[in-house]
Amino acid sequence: MFILKIGGSILTNKDSKESEVDTESLKRIALEIKSSLDNSPKELIIVHGAGSFGHPPAKKYKIGEKFDESEYPQKRIGFCETQNAVKKLNMYICEAFIDVGLPVVAIPASSFMTATNKRITSGNLDAFKRYLDKGFIPVIYGDVVLDDELEICVISGDQLIQYLAMNLNPDKVILGTDVDGVYNKNPKTHDDAIFFEKFTSLKDLDTFEGTTNVDVTGGMVGKIKELLYLADLGIESKIINAEVENNIYKVLENEEVKGTVISRGN
Ligand code: ADP
Repeated sequence: MFILKIGGSILTNKDSKESEVDTESLKRIALEIKSSLDNSPKELIIVHGAGSFGHPPAKKYKIGEKFDESEYPQKRIGFCETQNAVKKLNMYICEAFIDVGLPVVAIPASSFMTATNKRITSGNLDAFKRYLDKGFIPVIYGDVVLDDELEICVISGDQLIQYLAMNLNPDKVILGTDVDGVYNKNPKTHDDAIFFEKFTSLKDLDTFEGTTNVDVTGGMVGKIKELLYLADLGIESKIINAEVENNIYKVLENEEVKGTVISRGN
């Protein structure tokens, strides 16, 4: 079984004020996945980020920050706006996947998961197993959920990867993003950033602050933290560049692709 995450950075224009899908990338990725499954059938779960759809409302309503009872009506609407926005993105994605013949079925986190202090503490994955058994591709995405401590919170696609992998024990965990993997600093703003083939500790980063995108879910640091947690359980993952044509196809075919393996080993 493969768990594949497609970052919001690939599927949407995160800097845009409007919610925009990158239809070209989406179609290309859908076709790469389809080619691989045609070539060598396998179980696959897809996780996607919220990108420019989820982040603006989550930020506007400060979802995940403590609030007073009097603020509830506004927060509740903020929750609904965010949930609806990420659902919209998911519909575009599922439509593109179904168009190329991928049997995807959306299983939104907000409909069955809950958290405690922003960490998923319940979410029965039996439906994933049942859909997989019947040949479907379950799709889950960054979403809002109820939180026992904070009332409501945001759950990133990266945290979902961690939760799914921990509970379903996949053979491979792959994260597609818009850079080749992890560097000691942001490669988009630093030409001298050093690439890591293997990443084992947050200490390898120059500065943590410089490494987060303006992203309520934590950017690259958030991603690495989730994956290091997974590595502690003995599950390796790999970050690759999904903007490079055929990378997704190759990684699904177990072919060599440039990327960073996150593990605790040497
Ligand atoms: P996604 O939406 O694909 O899950 P994010 O946008 O949250 O990904 O994080 C990826 C971004 O993190 C990259 O576009 C890159 O600019 C930024 N980034 C910041 N610091 C680093 C780093 N040390 N190594 C790699 N990328 C980094």
